[in-house]
Amino acid sequence: MFIVFLGPPGVGKGTQCRRLISDLKIPHVSTGDMLRQAIRGGTVAGQNAARNMDAGQLVSDELVLKLVEQRLTEPDCVTGCLFDGFPRTIVQAEVLDEVLARRHTPLDLVLELQGDEQVLIQRMLLRANLENRSDDTPETVRARMRVYHSQTEPLVEYYGRHSILAPIDAMGSPDEVYARIQQALQHHCRK
Ligand code: AMP
Repeated sequence: MFIVFLGPPGVGKGTQCRRLISDLKIPHVSTGDMLRQAIRGGTVAGQNAARNMDAGQLVSDELVLKLVEQRLTEPDCVTGCLFDGFPRTIVQAEVLDEVLARRHTPLDLVLELQGDEQVLIQRMLLRANLENRSDDTPETVRARMRVYHSQTEPLVEYYGRHSILAPIDAMGSPDEVYARIQQALQHHCRK
């Protein structure tokens, strides 16, 4: 099963993804994690990515797509995976559709986590202190929110047209949100 997790920064995608991958036993493909790994590797591409990430901007489609396409060739991703933080642009979504169509394994479901913007901003600022993430300063948090609205939110309409979008109210305890995700999955599997 191929699933996309969509939602603004701070909405709790990471937490919910971890629970879902352990239940569904599919790999977690997080482009944020892959980029942070590339940065630790010290490559030129990693250094360029770090500049964008620290500014709260997106990394180039080219680099992200290269990392994802590479990851999808690995054997554990043959029958499914959970995309976390990807796609973030229409170009990325279109390429992902093409890649999966070639393999005859189209996307099954897009879980769109929705939350109140002011609550999410507060959550991210708190996380900045706890995790010491260099991309979570007040300026970059606001920049990431703007980038989400302008570049990633159009995916809601894109996937709505493909009839695979499941909106999830992400305000509530992690258990409550996870129960809603499970309901959406069950609903999808009955279709
Ligand atoms: P995340 O861990 O998903 O919050 O990602 C952290 C940062 O990595 C983002 O703010 C972007 O700068 C970059 N990033 C992660 N995924 C993508 C993507 N699919 N496209 C472009 N940039 C990305």
